[in-house]
Amino acid sequence: MITPEALPVVPVLASVAGEELARLAQTAGDVRLGAGDYAVHEGDERSLFVVLAGRIEVTKVIDGIERVIGKRVPGQIFGEVPIIFGTPYQGSYRATEAARVMHISARQFHALAAAHPAVLTQVAAIAAERIGGLKGIATAPPSKRGLMLARPGDDSARQLRSFLDRNQISHDWVAADAPDRATRWTGPPLDDDQLPALVCDDGSLLTRARPREVAEHVGLQTQPRAGTYDAVIVGGGPAGLAAAVYGASEGLRTLVIEREAPGGQAETSSRIENYLGFPTGVSGNELARRALQQARRMGAEVMVTRTVVAIDPASKVVTLDGGDVVPARSIILATGVSWRRLSSPGFDRLLGKGVFYGASRSEADSTQGQDIHLVGAGNSAGQAAMFFASHARTVTLVVRGDSLEKSMSHYLIEQLRGKPNIQVALNSELQALHGEKQLEAIDGVDRKSGAVRRVASRGVFVFIGADAETGWLPEGIQRDQRGYVCTGEAAARSGRWQLQRDPYLLETTVPGIFACGDVRSSPVKRVAAAVGEGSMAVAFVHQYLAHAGSAPAG
Ligand SMILES: Cc1cc2nc3c(=O)[nH]c(=O)nc-3n(C[C@H](O)[C@H](O)[C@H](O)COP(=O)(O)OP(=O)(O)OC[C@H]3O[C@@H](n4cnc5c(N)ncnc54)[C@H](O)[C@@H]3O)c2cc1C
Repeated sequence: MITPEALPVVPVLASVAGEELARLAQTAGDVRLGAGDYAVHEGDERSLFVVLAGRIEVTKVIDGIERVIGKRVPGQIFGEVPIIFGTPYQGSYRATEAARVMHISARQFHALAAAHPAVLTQVAAIAAERIGGLKGIATAPPSKRGLMLARPGDDSARQLRSFLDRNQISHDWVAADAPDRATRWTGPPLDDDQLPALVCDDGSLLTRARPREVAEHVGLQTQPRAGTYDAVIVGGGPAGLAAAVYGASEGLRTLVIEREAPGGQAETSSRIENYLGFPTGVSGNELARRALQQARRMGAEVMVTRTVVAIDPASKVVTLDGGDVVPARSIILATGVSWRRLSSPGFDRLLGKGVFYGASRSEADSTQGQDIHLVGAGNSAGQAAMFFASHARTVTLVVRGDSLEKSMSHYLIEQLRGKPNIQVALNSELQALHGEKQLEAIDGVDRKSGAVRRVASRGVFVFIGADAETGWLPEGIQRDQRGYVCTGEAAARSGRWQLQRDPYLLETTVPGIFACGDVRSSPVKRVAAAVGEGSMAVAFVHQYLAHAGSAPAG
């Protein structure tokens, strides 16, 4: 309990004295923090804090990385903007050393302010000043973390831009053949074979830049920090991130290993309309951003640009590309699915040069005012059509079947009908793709008449379904005929299960290795299912560790 003597000089409480100050001190929360502990997180509900001892830093996630934007010392307050304007916290407040803070709830603050208008006046004045600062930040042009110089149509540059986008690293790029290259490119003169090149905000230059190098340079985690983990999660899509949130929040030492950027397939979805709690839909990008922030906040480590290439079923040692190993007590497979390949002539040659699997938001610029084609009839193709329709001149869906109704949700079909620049070519197939350095045209075949027609196209995006890529898993993990991982009852029936007890619902044929989300053998491939399974997998990890007599890593 806080006594009035423990209060330093607090200017905003100058008008409160004697018994009233003692009552406030006694009824307010007495929060003691160790170095690194948070008093409050960005997005939390309003309240007010007074720093009694120690030092507090203000942090905010900017461009996917937590940055320090201010500090508070004894006698100062924080939470003035939320308490005055009724908003959630815009930043997080973390102790940099042992600290003690007084927590005043919104209700307590309003009672205090009613009795002492001077308190309200002073807190409001501080909030107004702070808002002024925030306005300054909001109206300043957003600073970019990097400037890229790239050859148009270069696939490695496209992948790098997509990687930067998906990791929320803001950047700009200059085409190597742009007439204004000399004025826009701030780096030194470079030859074509040094591209893509990136000038970072600290002035350093990366030539022939690759995602791993860039990740390391901008401070994203690419190496494990602990010796052993209670749960290593392979894949950072919705299933993996949900497992990370639950695992870390429940005290497990948790590591997510993601080969590209967090978000998985969902990240490429322009609008997810059926995820509970988002009545007007949410972009996959936004969902991924929030989930990543939540997982990190709970204490999970999230490594990017690292691929798991092997797992030892006996020791549960996980091997990464490059040979690094990570010991684990349990493993959660959340590797999802990868797009199915198309075999039309010209396809592989033009991949990344106007031809893409799936769609990411970073492709929007290149479709501006162009005629483009999307191959597929599922919801993912429909969503992409809606997204690109705001950029491209025309979007044509190339559909093998004679209707969309069999494969696409009704709401999406209705939305497509409302967009005059979206066309649907039923009973059609892509026969060949043409172009030298860049896609220029496609041959489409009418499956009923056999007639082939060549049309100009500056973008082909393929959404013809996806498969689980599980060939790298050890023999002992049973998969179904299509490569999806068997769990629970299917694992028990496989003949490979060795223990007396039954496998847990999401446990594979190897005890202590679990699978969740799209990679699991199950007919449901949805964000909500992946998130639900990711969180359930953690419950089974707890049971497995308890059963195996293995206490969580300290
Ligand atoms: C364009 C599009 C639109 C969609 N729209 C909707 C929708 O509106 N509603 C809905 O419910 N669902 C939608 N889906 C489906 C939904 O996105 C998936 O069901 C969901 O993302 C599955 O999550 P997951 O975590 O299981 O797998 P994924 O999202 O596939 O994530 C798996 C992750 O694992 C990583 N990975 C794979 N192998 C390795 C390895 N060896 N090492 C390290 N990392 C690895 C991958 O890079 C990937 O990031 C859509 C999908 C797409 C593509």
